[in-house]
Amino acid sequence: MQLYNTLSAKERAALIDEAGDERFTLSFYQYAHIGNPELFRNHLFLAWDDMNVLGRIYVAKEGINAQLSVPATNFTKFKSFIDKIHFLYNVRLNIAIEQDNKSFLKLKVKVRNKIVADGLIDETFDVTNKGIHVDAQTFNTLIEQEDTVLVDMRNHYESEIGHFKNAITPDVDTFRDSLDIIEDDLKDHKEDKKLVMYCTGGIRCEKASAYFKHKGFKNVFQLEGGIIEYARQVEQQKLDNKFKGKNFVFDHRRGERISEDIISNCHQCGNSCDTHVNCANEACHLLFIQCESCASQMENCCSQECAEITHLPHEEQKKLRSGKGNSNKIFKKGRSEKLKFQKK
Ligand SMILES: [Zn+2]
Ligand SMILES: [Zn+2]
Repeated sequence: MQLYNTLSAKERAALIDEAGDERFTLSFYQYAHIGNPELFRNHLFLAWDDMNVLGRIYVAKEGINAQLSVPATNFTKFKSFIDKIHFLYNVRLNIAIEQDNKSFLKLKVKVRNKIVADGLIDETFDVTNKGIHVDAQTFNTLIEQEDTVLVDMRNHYESEIGHFKNAITPDVDTFRDSLDIIEDDLKDHKEDKKLVMYCTGGIRCEKASAYFKHKGFKNVFQLEGGIIEYARQVEQQKLDNKFKGKNFVFDHRRGERISEDIISNCHQCGNSCDTHVNCANEACHLLFIQCESCASQMENCCSQECAEITHLPHEEQKKLRSGKGNSNKIFKKGRSEKLKFQKK
C-alpha cells in the first residue's frame, strides 16, 4: 500500500500535460472532531491518489483544511466520496475563478496539531462562539455603514496585492500578530462598532471572530467563504465588486485576479505590478513582487548577489547552502532590505 507521493513535480507536470484533462482548483475546510487523524489521513490519501487528486491537505484533531486540484472527469466521484464523510457532507467547496491545471503537482496530506497555524490556545476561549456569517450582498451593505470597521485578517504580503476598499490591513507576518494589533486599535469601540472581517477562504475568520467575541467585541461579522466565495457570488448575482486587485492564493498561481486594478508596485523598480515571484536562487527563495522587465534584467532574482549564485555550478550552490538551513529571508516575504520599493 503506497501512502505517500512518489512522483516528482516535474514528472507529474509531464503526466498532466499528457493526459490533457481539465482540472479544478478548489479548497474547503471543516472544523470537526477527528478521533484518529493518522487513520483519516491514510483513508484520504489512498482514495484521492486513486482519483488523481493533487494538493496540500492538513488534517488535525480539530478538522481538515484542504487545497486541491481535481481532474474534471473525476469531480463527481470526488464529490460523492467527501459527501460520504459525515462531517464533510455538503461542505462548501471554494472553486477557484482562474483555473490552472498545474496549481498543485503533488498530493500531500499532513497530520498537524492544528489545521491553521493560528498561534491560539483554543482552551482559553469558546471557539464555537463565532461571528455572524454574511454573504456577499449583506457584506456589501455592511461595509458601507458608518459604524462598521472592516478588517483584513490576512498577512501583509496578501493584502498588498488586493483588498476591500476601506479595509484595515495590518502590517503583520502572522495571523497571531494581527489579533493583538486589531484589538488594540479598536479597544474603545468593542460595543459601538460593527467589526466585519474577511480572509482568503473564510477559515481564519472562524477562529478570529470567536477570539474577538471572547475579548468583548459585541458585533462581530465574517465574510462567509472569504474572498473566493465573495468573487463567485459577485459574478453570479451581478453584484457590485468592492474588492480591488488580486486575491493571494497558496498554490502555484499565487494570485487570482478579482478586479482589473493593480494596487501594488514592483519591489525593484516601483512600477505598477502585482505579480508575486520567488527568487530563483534556491537558497534565498524570497517571495516578492517583480515586474517582467526586472525579472529579465535580474534573471528572476531578488538581488545581484542571488543572480551571481545562480550562475555557479549546481554542486557549488549546494555546498553554499549546506549547513545553513533555509535562509530566514524566505519568511520575510518582501521585507528584504535588498528590495528598493518594498511596501511602506
Ligand atoms: Zn520592476
Ligand atoms: Zn534572492
